[in-house]
Amino acid sequence: MESSSQRGEFDYLFKLLLIGDSGVGKSTLLLSFTSNTFEDLSPTIGVDFKVKHVTVKGKKLKLAIWDTAGQERFRTLTSSYYRGAQGIIMVYDVTRRETFTNLSDIWAKEIDLYSTNLDCIKMLVGNKVDRESERIVSKKEGIDFAREYGCLFLECSAKTRENVEQCFEELVLKILETPSLLAEGSAGVKNNIFKEKPPQSDASTSRCCSW
Ligand code: GDP
Repeated sequence: MESSSQRGEFDYLFKLLLIGDSGVGKSTLLLSFTSNTFEDLSPTIGVDFKVKHVTVKGKKLKLAIWDTAGQERFRTLTSSYYRGAQGIIMVYDVTRRETFTNLSDIWAKEIDLYSTNLDCIKMLVGNKVDRESERIVSKKEGIDFAREYGCLFLECSAKTRENVEQCFEELVLKILETPSLLAEGSAGVKNNIFKEKPPQSDASTSRCCSW
């Protein structure tokens, strides 16, 4: 996957979501992917999505990646957050078991309830593997969950950037292999359903919500 600074033209527009308990590292993961930096973030507030342009297998993609803006703490994510998503990244913290069990107890149920797109690709991500000595959730548990739930799986560290790019790349590759999602991605371009503010850097942030 190549980052691209060219924003004018793109072949497909995909909406990706980050979900999971507060504090698992969703915003850091997003920041790490979109701007290659790690910084200690206070809990996410006010950022709804970031945009990244990438080239994958010769196709120019515009990825609109939605973060929960802290609302997951109050369990107030609604159907509009999930609507029109082609990919969902479910994040847990390998050092906090409840963030893993909540994926099946809460988050998977919410996806079933709100995500109307049956073909939507899901990816399970165990974050903070740089804290290996504090690990509570084994890699095998992640693999087993992913197998049972039928989703992709990777462990990563948003801090060291280990596997961060791969998480998004694997998800996007799978989306590109799914004809119905490709059709949605190109319809998004045609209908111009997403309006981006003039970006200041490679990644742009916007609060407008025009999906
Ligand atoms: P969110 O609430 O899920 O968006 O979580 P944040 O991105 O705000 O991260 C919560 C805390 O975990 C912050 O203090 C981050 O700096 C820290 N954090 C995020 N990712 C990692 C990681 O991969 N490794 C370590 N050690 N800390 C991380």
